Amino acid sequence: MSKLVPPHGSDEVMPLLIPEAERAEVLKFAQTLKKVPLRSREVSDISMFAMGAYTPLEGFMGHADWKGVCENMKTASGLFWPIPITCPVDKEIADSINEGEEVALVDPETDTIMAVMEVSEKYYIDKALEAANVYRTTDPEHPGVKSVMEQGEVNLAGKVRALSEGQYAEKYGELFVRPAESRAMFAERGWSQVAAFQTRNPMHRSHEHLAKIAVEVLDGVFIHQVLGKLKPGDIPAEVRTKAIQAMIDNYFVPGTVIQAGYPIEMRYAGPREALLHAVIRQNFGCSHLIVGRDHAGVGDYYGPFDAQDIFDELWDGALITQPLKIDITFYCKKCDGMATAKTCPHDKSERVTISGTEQRRRLAAGEPIPPEFSRPEVVKILQEYYASLNS
Ligand SMILES: [Zn+2]
Repeated sequence: MSKLVPPHGSDEVMPLLIPEAERAEVLKFAQTLKKVPLRSREVSDISMFAMGAYTPLEGFMGHADWKGVCENMKTASGLFWPIPITCPVDKEIADSINEGEEVALVDPETDTIMAVMEVSEKYYIDKALEAANVYRTTDPEHPGVKSVMEQGEVNLAGKVRALSEGQYAEKYGELFVRPAESRAMFAERGWSQVAAFQTRNPMHRSHEHLAKIAVEVLDGVFIHQVLGKLKPGDIPAEVRTKAIQAMIDNYFVPGTVIQAGYPIEMRYAGPREALLHAVIRQNFGCSHLIVGRDHAGVGDYYGPFDAQDIFDELWDGALITQPLKIDITFYCKKCDGMATAKTCPHDKSERVTISGTEQRRRLAAGEPIPPEFSRPEVVKILQEYYASLNS
């Protein structure tokens, strides 16, 4: 009997990837179907379905689920789910498909058939309603809202049978850990209480401190990075991984940390996305999710603690995985150590902080980064990366 939290709404993790033995035959069949090109968000969602990260969903949502999720964070069957997982397409494509028809969902970037879907429903949505409820804004400048506003007019719903886990499964190899695999890794180490740390950046001492707070009170920490499409200026996953590993190897007790990645595309929905991150981590076997300041936020759309507070608004039994709510962390010169806004009474001027922009400038220029801010082993790897860009 596993001591880990059960998957969300299910006794078992439910990967939607077709078993390998049947895949060739289904692929052959899929090649005869109408091909529907997807955007990167939906391609990423299929990778998430394929690995079982969206357990217990069986495919892209229909209208009743979409509406329930937007308005009440609940599917039509009463399952807690905070962000709609939908498959929008252009009207011309939707018009060419009949309900009940099977289609091949394609990643145009790699020209790969990602999945077969039997289209059970085609429907229009009120995009402003989705934006206002899920993103708490209808401002088209918000990247998540922009994506919704620009998406096709018609959503296709239906059960997904995945043929591929997507390009990142191959590209990242060992880092691409599926929920069934992370559960096995935790069980092997005898862990039952595990915190997930979501990141899409290299980890400096403030992040290390967050992870260590989790290790102090739980069995281990799962450093879980976002693999997927990068924004300009992002540090590539392989460099991030190396920098994070240098931190783990030099500053953590062996056997207290596992590093992995998963193929989500960020929606920047702040509080609602924090909830989605928790649902996903429950599927990976994590009892807790570290939720810091402005988790999954962007710009000034969300208050610093909105993503923490939203967990208190859920009904009993909605979610098993709980937030580890931690304030911003930093090195304080007067405390002479790492602290948080909750534990350090001193003036902000005592804190050693460097903005992201200033950090990139210094790294690119080969200028020093104080050891109170980032570990030298981490800085070295980042400096090498920036130097390679300049050469
Ligand atoms: Zn202090």
